[in-house]
Amino acid sequence: MENKFPGKDITDEDLKTKFPLASSSNKKKIINIKDEVTFGSDNIPIIAGPNTVENKDMMFKCCEILEKKKIKLLRAGLYKPLTFPYRSDKYYELGDKGIKIIEEIKKNFDVLIVSEIMESEKISIMMDFVDIFQIGARNMQNYPLITKVAKTKKPILLKRHFGASIRDLIGAAEYALVEKNEKVILCERGITTPHTHKATSRFLLDIQAIPAIKDNSCLPIISDPSHACFWHEWVRPLALASIAAGAEGLMIETHPNPREAAVDPLQAISLKEFSDLVDKLREIAKVINKKIV
Ligand code: PEP
Ligand code: MN
Repeated sequence: MENKFPGKDITDEDLKTKFPLASSSNKKKIINIKDEVTFGSDNIPIIAGPNTVENKDMMFKCCEILEKKKIKLLRAGLYKPLTFPYRSDKYYELGDKGIKIIEEIKKNFDVLIVSEIMESEKISIMMDFVDIFQIGARNMQNYPLITKVAKTKKPILLKRHFGASIRDLIGAAEYALVEKNEKVILCERGITTPHTHKATSRFLLDIQAIPAIKDNSCLPIISDPSHACFWHEWVRPLALASIAAGAEGLMIETHPNPREAAVDPLQAISLKEFSDLVDKLREIAKVINKKIV
């Protein structure tokens, strides 16, 4: 069979037959979130908020800046996959207790909630407040979890595992599509390379994955520079580069007091830095005829 993409690890035919629903042989999907935000259109949504929900006050501060900048999607993780099981005394996982805070947010702000799910047992408790279920890098190939979450028909944000190929990511998305849930948004969040860790950063943002995924899948692809680079100083340039490279959304970690964040305090940017970044992103988006929302 002719390989129409010499040098790539997949052929056109390969994708069409293995992933008939997620491959680029389908019409590009525009994913509508409650008629408020769309992914894959001329709009570029930003998802912003802290690594984890810590308390009401810091969440309200994040929501205030989102409202001011006319950004709709709030990062609001209650259940966190932590790389190490030993937790610093600063860290407390709110888990189910955080739901009250999210309810208060929903009463006071016009935001949509993006929250990570790690186990299917949490589906019923999260269903009431989640607008997009995030399936994190570590669960990218947890097919039973993807299948169960997909059956809820809620939109899914599927993050690429840091060791996964693009084919693996598209293949994982197919598990949701086969359940007749077409609302799947893919997310590049950095990969492991021999050059990462300590010397430079935790992961390396695979900018090339953005055009590659657009070339090979009908699903929108967004970028999470915060988790990729791990250093707050690098988030801005990588966010700008992602949009210039064609990313169809961004996930940005923001915190009212970043260096005091309970989880990953080095990667969050301040609310002021976030506000400035949104202004700059809007300029870049304009150049490519897109709109940051
Ligand atoms: C996160 O977004 O909170 C997260 C844990 O990201 P990732 O799954 O990409 O590591
Ligand atoms: Mn994180």
